[in-house]
Amino acid sequence: MPYELVLLKNIHDPRVKEIDRYIELGGYKTAERVVKEITPKDVIETTKATGLRGRGGAGFPTGLKWSFVPKDTGKPVYLCCNADESEPGTCKDRVIIERDPHQLIEGIIIAAYAVDCHLAFIYIRGEFSLGYRILDKALQEAHRRGFLGRKIFGSAYDLEIILHSGAGAYICGEETGLIESLEGKRGHPRQKPPFPAVQGLYGCPTVVNNVETLANLPHIFNRGVEWFKSIGSNEKNTGPKLYCVSGQVNKPAVVERELGIPLMELINDVCGGVRNGNKLKGIIPGGSSVPILRPEECDVRMDFDSLAAKGTLLGSCGVIVIDETACMVRLALRTARFYAEETCGQCTQCREGTWWMEQVLHRIEYGHGKPEDLRMILDMCSNMKGVTICVLSDACAMPVEAMINKYREEFEYHIMEKRCMVSAHAHA
Ligand code: SF4
Repeated sequence: MPYELVLLKNIHDPRVKEIDRYIELGGYKTAERVVKEITPKDVIETTKATGLRGRGGAGFPTGLKWSFVPKDTGKPVYLCCNADESEPGTCKDRVIIERDPHQLIEGIIIAAYAVDCHLAFIYIRGEFSLGYRILDKALQEAHRRGFLGRKIFGSAYDLEIILHSGAGAYICGEETGLIESLEGKRGHPRQKPPFPAVQGLYGCPTVVNNVETLANLPHIFNRGVEWFKSIGSNEKNTGPKLYCVSGQVNKPAVVERELGIPLMELINDVCGGVRNGNKLKGIIPGGSSVPILRPEECDVRMDFDSLAAKGTLLGSCGVIVIDETACMVRLALRTARFYAEETCGQCTQCREGTWWMEQVLHRIEYGHGKPEDLRMILDMCSNMKGVTICVLSDACAMPVEAMINKYREEFEYHIMEKRCMVSAHAHA
């Protein structure tokens, strides 16, 4: 059966950015019904029942996350929409923000109502200047209609949303880095616990949800739990999903399919296969921070658990296709360089590890590698995982470690022959 678009259904309608058109298509009716007819507790229970898992990377159950917010603390509760999409290979939230911003705002209203939040924030990536302008206009339109502000939709519920632009730091996509940045400080992730649900923005209970996660909510409350659960590969992996397919593929695109579509179906049937009919060398399934899969490992469903069973992650769903013309040493160097530039520097393992990893990979790439370098990098990788304040350190170590372990012959060739194995074979 052909897949019925949900999140991207209206993105090709250029007028859907305008509130009149969004309303014409049925928009905001669901949020109105939720705040007028459903209790916050039932909103949380319904969301839990759908099995919706966070689409930002960690895949934590959304309803469960909301249920951790303590009640009656006397403090305000904040909701932060994480629109700081910056994982290399990932560009799905941007599509929602730029093409269908009211879908996101409607989702934020439902989530904020569920956790008794009256002031929500959208933390948008600094580079998304177009998205900022579109969202800003959409928020003003919603305000003028009475969908935001005092007594929204004529109910007893008040909600304001503040749009805040970041300054271009990858680490502000980490939820506590985002919170620090919103407070006006450097985006340094915090030690956890306490978790944001208990002590987040300004020391108050805070929920941080990703754009795509929030965009699911109007559809859930419009079409129901059973409809949502009918999409997906199994009961733990439910709902529609956005995939950002890039790299050496014929039709790179942000596409929507069920959570759990077989990876090779996504690449071959939806995105036209590997570029120029070349041989597949590997696929990074979840953004640059997750371990690569070799071709023989690509018979896998794109869901949280199937990918975890293969030793990788769904992550941000940035699916990067790599063909036989790519050099793995160069790719590892490029990956390490990104994280070395983006580390916040608080943790020694991350600050030093990312920098040294880049240095050693650089010398291998440029023909100055030593036989002991691979062991040294793998040692660094082990010492960088699971020991730092946030996972950026792991995000650098995991992909590089996988590239060396799975394509070791290319690294050894670079070290022994002082040149690239891929280009040597191409010119042979
Ligand atoms: Fe900063 Fe890296 Fe430590 Fe994260 S792991 S807090 S990015 S130094």
